[in-house]
Amino acid sequence: MSSRQITIIANWKANLPPSEEVALAKEIAESLLGALPKSGLPSDVRVLLAPSTLGLVPVASLLRREYPHSALEVAAQDVSLSIPGAFTGEAPAEHFVGIAPAVIVGHSERRRDHGETAEVVGGKLARAVAAGLAPVLCLGDDLPRAEIASRVAYVEEQSVATFAAAERAGCSAARLLAAGLVIAYEPVWAIGTGNPASVEIAEGIAAGLRSALNREELPVLYGGSVDAASAAAWFGTSTARTSLDGLLVGGASLSADRFATIVRAALSAAGSAQ
Ligand code: PEP
Repeated sequence: MSSRQITIIANWKANLPPSEEVALAKEIAESLLGALPKSGLPSDVRVLLAPSTLGLVPVASLLRREYPHSALEVAAQDVSLSIPGAFTGEAPAEHFVGIAPAVIVGHSERRRDHGETAEVVGGKLARAVAAGLAPVLCLGDDLPRAEIASRVAYVEEQSVATFAAAERAGCSAARLLAAGLVIAYEPVWAIGTGNPASVEIAEGIAAGLRSALNREELPVLYGGSVDAASAAAWFGTSTARTSLDGLLVGGASLSADRFATIVRAALSAAGSAQ
């Protein structure tokens, strides 16, 4: 059995108001209770719920108050570039401390809708790490029909530009890795389209990034149209795991049943299903 940890992140985006996010978190926790040992999630499976910024505190409070043994955690969907101070409307990394241990940075929707460049994403990585948050860096190609080698080259280039920007913002690649950096490979053509990439493509990207960064153990997740029915394929089995370290799930995480099925597949691949 592999000891590599599997991480599953639910990205709820801006789909639900906080009251419905709390209800969904409760439904997910209840739905998972039967699949978990009494002590909660085993240490080789990590599950983070990423509600909207307004939903972070109520969802985190619910999990702490009513499901303290579930080990379910929350993550932020984004973080501001600014430090705490007179910056109206911003959400600096320091404000998430004690609420969310991790933050998604560079999601393709932020890049598309807010013009976030590698410079901005690198700066946000640096801010997250400075505050003690573990960043989940989204990288992805917009090459629906490319060969794997071209995709790997594209994503590697994106990662090099982002790490260089983080370095300029005062955070070296070594520091990012030490802070618990996780990469989420999210091809733009797969997100929300019902057309996921293949495991082969995602594993090719993971291998390319690990070799470029010289980090065999770099955690790489896949995200893009993952659903309950196909979840198991992304993990393999407890004796023949894929080289991926988990999933970032959008649409399917808005259904407690579908998301819980994905988590159960992870538990089973980790060899921890009850
Ligand atoms: C996402 O946007 O991060 C994502 C993975 O979405 P979906 O699962 O809906 O494709």
